[in-house]
Amino acid sequence: MTEKRALFIIFGGSGDLAQRKLYPALYGLYYQGRLAKHFAVIGTARRPWTDDHYHDIIKQSLVGAPGSAHQKTEFAEHFYYQSHDVTDAAHYVTLRDLAEKLDKQYALDGNRVFYMAMAPRFFATIAEHVKSEQLLSAKGFNRLIVEKPFGRDFATAKQLNDDISQAFSEEQIYRIDHYLGKEMVQDIMPLRFANPLLGHAWSKDFIDNIQITLAEDIGVEERAGYYETAGALRDMVQNHIFQIIAMLTMEKPARYDAASIHAAKRAVLSAIKPYTPTQVHDKFVRGQYLGGDDIGLSYREEDNIASDSTVETYVAGRVDIDNDRWRGVPIYIRTGKRLKAKQSRIDIVFKPTSDNILPTVNDTHVAPNVLTLIIEPETGMHLTLNGKEIGTSDAVSPFTLDHALDQDELAKAPEAYQRLMLNILDGNKLTFTHWAELAASWHFIDAIRTVWDNDKADGLAFYNSGTMGPQQADDLLARDHRQWIWQG
Ligand code: NAD
Repeated sequence: MTEKRALFIIFGGSGDLAQRKLYPALYGLYYQGRLAKHFAVIGTARRPWTDDHYHDIIKQSLVGAPGSAHQKTEFAEHFYYQSHDVTDAAHYVTLRDLAEKLDKQYALDGNRVFYMAMAPRFFATIAEHVKSEQLLSAKGFNRLIVEKPFGRDFATAKQLNDDISQAFSEEQIYRIDHYLGKEMVQDIMPLRFANPLLGHAWSKDFIDNIQITLAEDIGVEERAGYYETAGALRDMVQNHIFQIIAMLTMEKPARYDAASIHAAKRAVLSAIKPYTPTQVHDKFVRGQYLGGDDIGLSYREEDNIASDSTVETYVAGRVDIDNDRWRGVPIYIRTGKRLKAKQSRIDIVFKPTSDNILPTVNDTHVAPNVLTLIIEPETGMHLTLNGKEIGTSDAVSPFTLDHALDQDELAKAPEAYQRLMLNILDGNKLTFTHWAELAASWHFIDAIRTVWDNDKADGLAFYNSGTMGPQQADDLLARDHRQWIWQG
């Protein structure tokens, strides 16, 4: 395994994301030997920390990680802290001097990763200063990592994209959607393109509908401030759900490389037409959770939430793709907080047999085949088929083939952020989003958002915590003579 060489500059080095995700991810690469002698990390934030204190923070973030205390200390010694206000140009000069010094000291070949682990309002100014104060290295690679949220509508996303594009090319920009780093989301391509059995059935001719559920059982927790400005539609649908839709429905890419995959995703997303206001009312549902004894507060009673907030904590909707492969196949999506159970899953519901000759139980129809991919918290898949009931009966009844990914193997598999960090070092953009994909999804989301913002509380459905969301979400499918496969 060859060691990677790079300098990481983490803006927001004292923040939650850095401590919970980024440091453990870098350590995971160190533990595997992918980072060894030739790497260094500069963490920047406003607080006046010493390097020693920073090393303690790094080690604290590794509690529970494998490896000895000695290994963790050695790892932490690659970290340098710099107190830095990202809006102050002079601070970038100090940063550049430190970067150049570390580049020589660790023989980093001029490779630089600029990781923006800060509030998005700072992204443009960081990118601008990195360029104007000459932090871009002339020798190795320069890669800019952009966290979510990428804008709050198409206009702000475009502005952000234009701003960062002044300093970095599309090739150098890595937009994070950590769902793309999840094991089962990465399994979609092999399932579709390495199994003719599924690949041939992957169209409107055989698939009746697709259901995507990203359900959380917790409430808004400590993210209230952000959540009040976002809501479930922006927080989950625009990014994660749209990326999953793209992976499920894109045409086979010409090659297995980032450019071909981005082109295929872009093509299918552009076939999802933004809805008219009438279509929004017909095809999308929004809800907000209510509390109860032993179950927690209502959303409107939570700290830092307006008592008349109309922000949605739940969204369900029907997405239609206007192309030859998918015309007429609804993609039902839903996501919400305080639901009955936590689970992210995809259910592909195939068309039932139309000319059944076999006896069935209670004279009902033969059940459809359903392929279910469980993204989390477990990881695996089920395929529901039909067989003969055991015993003397000839009746057809469904059974399930289960494939749970090996827990020991999974435990050894890297967390999403570790995989993404490795991809960044490899220059592999497969698990990152292209601007065109975000633009398409924002156009779709904006059309819904505009209607909901005008409607204010009208149409906001309240649902009890611990349920699967408002009744309207069930009605949405019932109108199409369908139902949600997963009932929580
Ligand atoms: P945070 O508030 O915990 O950290 C923000 C960091 O920015 C701190 O280190 C703070 O010192 C620094 N900072 C603020 N103003 C500064 C300034 N003027 N100059 C220099 N430093 C300054 O935020 P977070 O939760 O770590 O989130 C960071 C980014 O990651 C956000 O874009 C967020 O949406 C995204 N994100 C976070 C998570 C998560 O689990 N925390 C998950 C997904 C995405």
